[in-house]
Amino acid sequence: MFCNAIPPVANGSNLNGGLELESSCFIILVLVLYSCSSFLGVALLLARSSVLRHSVQASKADSLMHLENLYCSLFPVVCLPDVCVRQLRSDERCELNQLGGVCVCRRPAIVDDSTKQAAVVDPVEPEKILRVAQENGVALKLVLTTHHHWWDHAGGNDKIKQLVPDIKIYGGSVDNVQGCTNKVENGDKFSLGVDINILSLHTPCHTKGHISYFVTGKDGEDPAVFTGDTLFVAGCGKFFEGTAEQMYQSLCVTLGSLPKPTQVYCGHEYTVKNLQFALTVEPENAKVSEKLKLAEQKRNEGVPTIPSSIEEELETNPFMRVDLPEVQEKVGCSSPVDALREIRQRKDNWRG
Ligand SMILES: [Zn+2]
Repeated sequence: MFCNAIPPVANGSNLNGGLELESSCFIILVLVLYSCSSFLGVALLLARSSVLRHSVQASKADSLMHLENLYCSLFPVVCLPDVCVRQLRSDERCELNQLGGVCVCRRPAIVDDSTKQAAVVDPVEPEKILRVAQENGVALKLVLTTHHHWWDHAGGNDKIKQLVPDIKIYGGSVDNVQGCTNKVENGDKFSLGVDINILSLHTPCHTKGHISYFVTGKDGEDPAVFTGDTLFVAGCGKFFEGTAEQMYQSLCVTLGSLPKPTQVYCGHEYTVKNLQFALTVEPENAKVSEKLKLAEQKRNEGVPTIPSSIEEELETNPFMRVDLPEVQEKVGCSSPVDALREIRQRKDNWRG
């Protein structure tokens, strides 16, 4: 039922809110560079780390980070019967099965087996997703939008609505999601086909209306949660529209209370860097070291590190471990919220 549904790869680039990309010049620069990447492909990607770092880093370290993220942003996933289809980044390798830059991995999918209805999370490139859906004989019925950042999460909604007029597009009621037809609030439930139930969890802070989707299927299957840019593997999203108090509630209370076997599908493949940072907070945490080693191995093999699980996050994610007095002590704080705020600030300044 569930798939390796990795929504696009990038941290939130908040063009709507103007919180990250501050000038129209920068937006144009990003668009030009992205267009160029389509033609230059690997060459540009190979060059990006050196060229971009040298040209931009000195004056706009934050902008560089967003720019690099945008290169990795347009990689949608569609969940189909028994497969996960994910467009490959030009610098990614997939050892499993390649079809013209699309990685087809045999994994469970968010598909109702009885009705062959499918849901897709944050579909940024609708044409490709629709093509693959048609090839696999399933009907796209739902879009689950985690938050309004259009460049890498909500930006394909209008187009997919044109292509699939009866599709329902879900999004947070206070998040102004592009193309949203079904606004949801915390606790709202809906279904896909006959066997899949979806629970909306309001997880604000990265954006004020951010929604995570908790998905359950037939008895005996582990549930899954699609956490967008709130919870990453071993990390969390930036506090663009909220406070440390809100992120604590979202991460440690709402998501932290889900069943431990819940599979965590987050918005971006930041796992290796996040685990490297986690070791700066808890150098002696053996679970973090083990997970980092495994994540590096997976990436070298072209395999995603996602999903994780709530249990693993509680063991390795420093942002979800702030209830522990020893973690608070390590960052010089005496409360969970203060520790979360401090760790986020350290991560924002960390250039690992
Ligand atoms: Zn975002």
